Amino acid sequence: MKIRLASSITMDSIVDGPGLRAVLWTQGCHHKCKNCHNPQTHDFHGGFEVAVEEVIEEINKLKLQRGITLSGGDPFEQPEALIEICKETKKLGLDIWAYTGYTFEELMDIKNPKYFKWAHLLEYIDVLVDGRFIEEKKDLLLKFRGSRNQRIIDVRKSLNAKKTMLHLEYMEEMNIAK
Ligand code: SF4
Repeated sequence: MKIRLASSITMDSIVDGPGLRAVLWTQGCHHKCKNCHNPQTHDFHGGFEVAVEEVIEEINKLKLQRGITLSGGDPFEQPEALIEICKETKKLGLDIWAYTGYTFEELMDIKNPKYFKWAHLLEYIDVLVDGRFIEEKKDLLLKFRGSRNQRIIDVRKSLNAKKTMLHLEYMEEMNIAK
């Protein structure tokens, strides 16, 4: 199986989740957010294809990274390949964050034909930063996200509770009572 990426894996990122992280930049996004920071990642024919096994090999060689972050582009446009990658990543004890232009509720909508693949991918993700980037809600002081509508979601807790559960990091920043 192949995955389409926008660039090689970025190492040691400190802005795409907590700790040092390896970021996987997927290629392809439908959302067309105004003033997106990565417009070169939108084209579904852009970037380059690489075998999933090669990406897993690179992840196996990671050192000193707390986890990986799926970014893009929208990672949820390539769930099958990412399920394979995340499955192997979890075996290494790394945590997984993911960014998406979809809201968590859109991903969990059973009426959507992509629901089963999305739900399967979510099983491997610890934390999701969700929602489109909205220029009018942009805030440079926000941690790990670009605009105030985007949320940091604790996916494990949400799947267990069968409802959207915000991540502690987000609740503290937004002064939301636990
Ligand atoms: S979802 Fe992300 S990559 Fe896609 S257009 Fe919006 S900001 Fe850009």
